[in-house]
Amino acid sequence: MARIGLYGGTFDPIHHGHLISARSLAEQLDLERVYLIPAARPPHKPNNVMTPVEDRLEMARRAVAGDSLFEVSDIEARRDGPSYTIDTVQRARESFGKDAELFWFIGGDSLPELPGWHRVRELVERVTIVTATRTGWRHPTASRLAEAVGDEAARRLLSNCVATPSIGISATEIRRRRSEGRSVRYLTPQVVVEYIEAHGLYQ
Ligand code: ATP
Repeated sequence: MARIGLYGGTFDPIHHGHLISARSLAEQLDLERVYLIPAARPPHKPNNVMTPVEDRLEMARRAVAGDSLFEVSDIEARRDGPSYTIDTVQRARESFGKDAELFWFIGGDSLPELPGWHRVRELVERVTIVTATRTGWRHPTASRLAEAVGDEAARRLLSNCVATPSIGISATEIRRRRSEGRSVRYLTPQVVVEYIEAHGLYQ
């Protein structure tokens, strides 16, 4: 049975924190493939000025070129309206079939926000949400999650927290460093650094 990871994010830009934590999850969960899915319009970041999704997709593609674990999906880029995870999961289910095991990755900082996600009760029944945690992370209380998704699903969410290496890099930091004229080398693969420079991103 296929075991597939789905990793949504803004990826503005993708960086080593994303890549290292995704590979670590894939290894621990024994996944054969991980799809990186840049969101066209993340519902939780509606007012942020974002880099066009075509650039974010291209940076992700270059970052993982030649690595058979990863694939970059433009499924959210091609869809109009907010990029709701539930819609993406439904599409993934249609294309991978009912027997595939689908895992949706989130970072530890996103788990407390999960109760606010669109149609979250349905979402947690349709996909296994796996939370990548880093050192020092404190999980939200079970009761807060249970209010949103029910006791059983809240228990599952908390038991599907997986420790991954702590890489203190964020896309915000990369954008800030660029805007200050500082180097972003080593924060993201060199091919992404080159793309950022060639296209004058984040200046
Ligand atoms: P921004 O700084 O613009 O908010 P970000 O670096 O947090 O961006 P996103 O694209 O918003 O990146 O994140 C996608 C997912 O990656 C989120 O679930 C987030 O928790 C996770 N993530 C981001 N940075 C890291 C990191 N350094 N290590 C592990 N996971 C990360």
